[in-house]
Amino acid sequence: MKFNSSYLFFFLFFFYSFSLCFSQRVTQINTLEEKLKKESSVSATILISLELSKLYSAEDLEKALSYAESAYKKSVETQSYKDQANSLNQIGKINMLNNNYDQALESFINSLNINKQYSDLKGAAISNIHIGDVYREIGDEKRARNQYEQALQIGMKTKNLITQSLSNLSLGKLEDKVGNQNLSLQYFILSNEQINLTNETPLKAEISYSLGMSYVKSNQFNTATQILIQSLKAYEKINDLKNQTLLCFEIGNLYETLEDHDNSLLYMKNSLGLAEKIGYKEFIKKGYENISKVYESKGDYKRAYEFLQYYTAIKDVREINALETQLELAKKNQALLLVEEKEKRKKEISDVRFFFITVLLIIFLLFSVFMLYAYRQKSSINIELKAATDEANRSRKEKEDFFAYTSHEIRTPLNAVVGMSQLLSGTHLDKKQQHYLKTISSSANNILFLVNDILDLAKIEKGAIQLEKIPFSLKDLVNDICHTLAFKTRAKNIELKSTIDEAIPDLILGDPVRVNQIILNLADNGVKFTEKGQVIIELSLKKNSANSAVILFSVKDTGIGIKNEKLETIFDSFKQESSETTRQYGGTGLGLSITKELVQLMGGEIKVESVAGKGSNFYFYLKMDIAKNVTKYNASETEKADAFLSSVKILLVDDNQLNRDVFIDLISDSKNNVSVDIAEDGIQAIQKFESNNYDIILMDLQMPNMDGYETSKHIREKFPPIKNQIPIIAMTAHVLEGVSKKCLAAGMNDCVSKPINTYQLSLLINQLLNRGSDSLVSIEKNTKSNNNKEGTVIDLSMIKKISKNNNEKIIKYINLYLESVPLDLHKMKEALAEKNYKVLGELAHKLKGNAGYMGLNKLLSCLEKMENLIENDEKSNEIVIIVNRVESIIALSIDELNSYKKQCLI
Ligand code: ADP
Repeated sequence: MKFNSSYLFFFLFFFYSFSLCFSQRVTQINTLEEKLKKESSVSATILISLELSKLYSAEDLEKALSYAESAYKKSVETQSYKDQANSLNQIGKINMLNNNYDQALESFINSLNINKQYSDLKGAAISNIHIGDVYREIGDEKRARNQYEQALQIGMKTKNLITQSLSNLSLGKLEDKVGNQNLSLQYFILSNEQINLTNETPLKAEISYSLGMSYVKSNQFNTATQILIQSLKAYEKINDLKNQTLLCFEIGNLYETLEDHDNSLLYMKNSLGLAEKIGYKEFIKKGYENISKVYESKGDYKRAYEFLQYYTAIKDVREINALETQLELAKKNQALLLVEEKEKRKKEISDVRFFFITVLLIIFLLFSVFMLYAYRQKSSINIELKAATDEANRSRKEKEDFFAYTSHEIRTPLNAVVGMSQLLSGTHLDKKQQHYLKTISSSANNILFLVNDILDLAKIEKGAIQLEKIPFSLKDLVNDICHTLAFKTRAKNIELKSTIDEAIPDLILGDPVRVNQIILNLADNGVKFTEKGQVIIELSLKKNSANSAVILFSVKDTGIGIKNEKLETIFDSFKQESSETTRQYGGTGLGLSITKELVQLMGGEIKVESVAGKGSNFYFYLKMDIAKNVTKYNASETEKADAFLSSVKILLVDDNQLNRDVFIDLISDSKNNVSVDIAEDGIQAIQKFESNNYDIILMDLQMPNMDGYETSKHIREKFPPIKNQIPIIAMTAHVLEGVSKKCLAAGMNDCVSKPINTYQLSLLINQLLNRGSDSLVSIEKNTKSNNNKEGTVIDLSMIKKISKNNNEKIIKYINLYLESVPLDLHKMKEALAEKNYKVLGELAHKLKGNAGYMGLNKLLSCLEKMENLIENDEKSNEIVIIVNRVESIIALSIDELNSYKKQCLI
């Protein structure tokens, strides 16, 4: 057998336990024997002899018998019937242990007779039980039962609970032996109940042990555990270590059956500890074996193996002597081994140490040489690197500063110049002034384009352009481009066509702003360099799969074309075909560079085929992902207003003159006696409201100085009762949800949408002025139908109706539009460049009023869409496209309105 240190420890412990146990019992026996020698009282010697007999009965039955017999002899001498009966019982028990059943029976019967003779009923009952035990052992169940029942009767007669309990216990054991498990359990329960009414702890311990085990047999593990724990406690009280060992073992097993590994381990270890303490070898073995099993079921294989090793180690050791020899041998072997091992380790360690020190020294030397070299290199590189980095940083900083400066400082005044020029063009100018203005305007526009192009290119070069991947419709995008350029093509009298392959998916994923920029650039060039004929934007599907499509984009024109030798360079920055081009067509020579870079960014390559004097074809392929599960956004079409208004004294609060004038015209159209007072903002409204009485206030929401919400709040909170009850109706071009809620929260009674439907408004006013109808009435949003003539963007039918076809009034409205809208558009572009979405939203909202009156339904759709996007925080690039579209629609509308004006004046 091999020994390692843990074995050594284990054997030491095992040996120690045995020694301890022996020494305890030996000491006890020695003490008693010493006492016996010295004892002069016979009755005391009887008791000591009986005690010694009991102690020896665990080890040496012969000695045990001799002490019992000596006790009996002495009790006969002393004529103490009680001691005689007790001694006979002890003799009987030892004989039973020796399997001498006849002699045992004889002793117990003698004991019974003595008890009977002296009318000791309790003693007789005990004797009956012992006799029964012999019968039970030799398999005479009938007689055994008879004996137990006699004992029980005596117990009942004498009302002695102990006797009753012991009889029932024995009956239980008997039934258990013959296999009547249920009956047996009932006897045990009864016995346990009876003994629990007494103070007999040892019996309590024994009976609950039997009861617990009986529960185990009937598979009632939980109850069994509880009862056995009770028994264990009782054994603890009487310090019976052996039974505690057994009980802990049983309880540990029970917990394992109940799969409570932790408790199982606890009791198993207790059992093992106790077994080791009293040297209960069988349970030491069992303990190690079972603990190993519990660890195994817990999955702790390391510990399971450890305990199994202990178990294997002691399994074959039968005798302590053998153990001792093994132990000694082991100790010696171990010591020898240890010495050898130590020497070996020492040598190994010193070898390894030497090796490591050598290796470390070499590494250190190499490292030092390398560091020295690296340091020298680094310091020279560092100097150069630092200079280069500083330089690069400085120029980058300068470039960034320049761009920042250009983006804001140049673009803002330029926008203002462009805007103001447009405004100026609407005033009365003589021919010379008009010519100057045209030059200013086109130069400003050119600079603006240049600045924007430079910024774009710089951004692309810097890699600062992040392509979006959002769903959009190529068809819509191309249509928008055609609309944008319609103004130019009409002026040049050339045709701009688009052919879009039907097979191209409706919605694709990509960056609509950049795709728009590419096609617009090419188409714009096409229009610019074509004097006769047509420009065609063509999109065809080249390859299609479930998730993506390869699309061929081409922009063809019948324009001036490009000379062969220039075809290579036209994509370079600032390169135009010739100086003639610059002179004749203007431009920066940046558009194609940007386009090329953008196409490359999208994974394509732009190419050109061109014949001088005949035309050009710019084309490229793009692989684009198909958008799925997305529905196309369709802005609702607007419906024109058709209304009149009932009689009432109104305070109209609106900062927009066009709105105000239109409203007054609508009112004068009414047959009722309506008077309208005007306030241009909230502050004016409050002043007027203080000094006048009105029936109702119509309140615009977005106004300078004090907006509609604040004004309404002020009226409700600061004015005296009754006056502060005046109905307030909000007028808003907002179609968004939440606006009406906000209006109500500010104290307004309801809200109507612009352009005002006077019929519905009058209904609402009447309702609000009639008492009892102060419930809120929701006015449907005006829906607008498209009455536009083919090819025009404006529809003046509403304004005509309002003004009853009064030309003067119509021109007044048109002039108001022409004055304010271009300025707002420029502010809008500026806000977009600065990404100031709040201002952008406000401007879109403001423009909606004007668009509504001019029947600009397409513009209304765009503005509504823009507002929606901004409100929903979707500041996507779609907004850029919308602003483009807004710009082109406004350009067309200005054109159309100017020609309408001219016609009117003729
Ligand atoms: P820009 O148009 O501002 O001059 P571009 O980079 O867009 O700059 O174009 C570079 C040059 O390529 C143009 O100046 C022109 O000479 C030539 N070019 C581009 N498109 C066409 C076209 N469709 N037809 C003829 N020449 C073109």
